[in-house]
Amino acid sequence: MEWFASIPKVELHAHLNGSIRDSTLLELAKDLGEKGVIVFSDVEHVILKNDRSLTEVFKLFDLIHIITTDHATVKRITKEVIEDFASENVVYLELRTTPKRNDSKGMTKRSYMEAVMEGVRNVSTVDVVFPHNNVDAGSHIISVPVNDMCNGTARKKIYVRLLLSIDRRESTAAAMETVKLALEMRDLGVVGIDLSGNPVVGEWITFLPALKFAREHGLDITLHCGEVPNPKEIQAMLDFIPQRVGHACYFGEDDWKKLKSYNIPVEICLTSNITTASVSSLDVHHFADLYKAKHPLVLCTDDSGVFSTSLSKEYNLAAAAYGLGKREMFELARNAIEFLFENDEVKQDLRSIFDLAAKKLD
Ligand code: 5GP
Repeated sequence: MEWFASIPKVELHAHLNGSIRDSTLLELAKDLGEKGVIVFSDVEHVILKNDRSLTEVFKLFDLIHIITTDHATVKRITKEVIEDFASENVVYLELRTTPKRNDSKGMTKRSYMEAVMEGVRNVSTVDVVFPHNNVDAGSHIISVPVNDMCNGTARKKIYVRLLLSIDRRESTAAAMETVKLALEMRDLGVVGIDLSGNPVVGEWITFLPALKFAREHGLDITLHCGEVPNPKEIQAMLDFIPQRVGHACYFGEDDWKKLKSYNIPVEICLTSNITTASVSSLDVHHFADLYKAKHPLVLCTDDSGVFSTSLSKEYNLAAAAYGLGKREMFELARNAIEFLFENDEVKQDLRSIFDLAAKKLD
């Protein structure tokens, strides 16, 4: 485990509200319990439960959103989530979140995102490479020290970029609002769009106009795809040729063929897939076939809080389950650079971080 924590890693599939520390969630829930907003004893065991079906996961998210959706809390969880990823040497994080309205708190989708961005800027334990409001649009701070195999001799740095998620419960108009917000915030660290939310809710056709609009305006797109059996939707999503897909659990032969022919990278979330029983065991997980076929893939956490995992744990799990050695795992981590939603300047900087770390591999 320690070794997996020590190498640089790239996280491309992490949901903000799924990545909250249990301790924070409990503290916030207790607070709301004392204010009479919720009954703490009713929610404590729900937060601490370990095994969850996909349906239970979405019920938990409804609870988490009640607990977290105010500006101060959004700032706090964003800061903590980034610090947690940085502490295990994630050097590039694409954090995704669903912009939310909460009229009772005077929250708009825009003010929600502004709170997220403030949370990013509040990170203090590491240097964060993130566009600033007060610098020229588009410029990035990349002149901070490079991780030195993350051994504490140099201050760590982490690139943070944001993906705005469209929730499958949303209408076409609401999805379009999210995409327009993403476009307005493009110079502020937003690099793409994600489609997520309960996979048995909503129709692909509802989100397609907003996703097409995003693409026409140059935003990269990742789709939660094949979390439940839905062959028609899987085919339609693949025909859209997104930059990446997440999960891909219920793919049939034709889906694999299409995915491979378009060479679409897959975000693999092992613990999430096993916990929700989307895949019955690691032995039959599609990671093995895709890895053997040298298909582009990246290991991710999905929801490190909800599934009690971390990126190092996911690497450890994959190495043990599929018999992969340190070199192979290091290469797997490094390859993720090629699939991230940033320009070559950033990728080049990340490659140099990995090159430096490679020299110290035993
Ligand atoms: P948020 O967007 O509120 O920061 O993060 C939580 C949200 O991400 C959930 O409400 C849900 O819409 C989405 N999400 C988190 N994990 C999953 C997952 O495993 N599958 C899908 N489809 N959506 C997820």
